[in-house]
Amino acid sequence: MEKTFRPDTICVQAGWKPKKGEPRVLPIYQSTTFKYDTTDEMGRLFALEDEGYFYTRLQNPTNDAVAEKIAELEGGVAAMLTSSGQAANFYTIANLCQAGDHIVCSAKVYGGTFNLYASTIKKLGIDCTFVDPDASAEEIDQAFRDNTKAVVGETIANPALTVLDIEKFAVLAHKHGVPLIVDNTFATPVNCRPFDFGADIVTHSTTKYMDGHAMAVGGCIVDSGNFDWEAYGDKYPGLTTPDETYHGVVYTRQFGKKAFITKATAQLMRDLGSIPSPMNSFLLNIGLETLPLRMEKHCSNARQVAEFLKDHEKVEFVNCAMLKGDPYYDLAQKYMPAGTCGVLSFGLKGTKEDAVRFMDSLKLCAIVTHVADARTCVLHPASHTHRQMNDEQLKEAGVTPGLIRLSVGIEHPLDIIEDLAQALNQV
Ligand SMILES: *Cc1c(COP(=O)(O)O)cnc(C)c1O
Repeated sequence: MEKTFRPDTICVQAGWKPKKGEPRVLPIYQSTTFKYDTTDEMGRLFALEDEGYFYTRLQNPTNDAVAEKIAELEGGVAAMLTSSGQAANFYTIANLCQAGDHIVCSAKVYGGTFNLYASTIKKLGIDCTFVDPDASAEEIDQAFRDNTKAVVGETIANPALTVLDIEKFAVLAHKHGVPLIVDNTFATPVNCRPFDFGADIVTHSTTKYMDGHAMAVGGCIVDSGNFDWEAYGDKYPGLTTPDETYHGVVYTRQFGKKAFITKATAQLMRDLGSIPSPMNSFLLNIGLETLPLRMEKHCSNARQVAEFLKDHEKVEFVNCAMLKGDPYYDLAQKYMPAGTCGVLSFGLKGTKEDAVRFMDSLKLCAIVTHVADARTCVLHPASHTHRQMNDEQLKEAGVTPGLIRLSVGIEHPLDIIEDLAQALNQV
């Protein structure tokens, strides 16, 4: 067996492994297509009988090297990059479900994922039941049906910042013979590896910390290879029965532990086509090289900023699972002992107008619709993501007029704190 390295080493060394005389740095294979010498050579690729590149919508060496690095980081057997996190979360469900099927999902997931599962896949005939992730196992158990095919949650929910009890969800999913899918975007595999706690498939918006510099939108699906698709009879026919669009290949039989990712690539990427550009994958790879350094700094900065805000007279509350006393502190200690992430939220005392004055007084922290950037970003949900709601609806959604979402960057922590302090003084 090949030696397995620690995350810091995987981040710089995994994926692209140049042979004699090849470039040290991962090349950008900016080519749609790849050349062969004989008709038969290319024919075997189309029949999935040989491995090799022929068209970038299906596979590309730059994309694959980066996917391999992320798979290794998560401790999985295979991964596929997508052009966005949205595509990753859609493909994961589309790879398991068809019209008439059902999934169970944490109600605290990212808004984009919520819309996708509550509305868009519903139009395709796939139903979703949303559950309170903090409910008891007995309560969540009620959401399962005979046609349930998967369970979904987020390690740290964006922007709710709740921490998922991965083991509780994994036990429930496996009791019902379905895989647990965890969106690990905010924690990253540096701070949490959901497979170690029973998750079967991990998804990412690589747009966030993995890229980390706000350069490229992207996504990734990683398979642990642990879920036994064939053990559940005809529940996953797409994986366990012949794919007539590929000469009757049975993915589980021909590809074993790599069945899930091979089907996602050969079938979904072929038909739906949300492939990242090799240039974006190259940028993502540079981001990954420094991921452990950045995560450590994001977390230590966020801790200091959270402590500062917690004690400030104009701040009502702070949501940060690294703070003692936070409702998710214990879960965070269990699943992410080294730290959670740089994103936190806090409630400013006063009105919506006070919050706007605070926002507009910030000089270093920038107002952008983004999180997980090296640069500190800030957003006012009542003015931005939840703008259409009135005060009553905001209350119902758990968004107070003074709620601020802060993505703490990797600047010097005192510069961030001083900027927040001077803006708080303007309120
Ligand atoms: C941003 C985000 C997504 C969507 O990813 P895009 O790359 O923006 O398409 C999905 N899940 C989580 C947790 C996110 O933060």
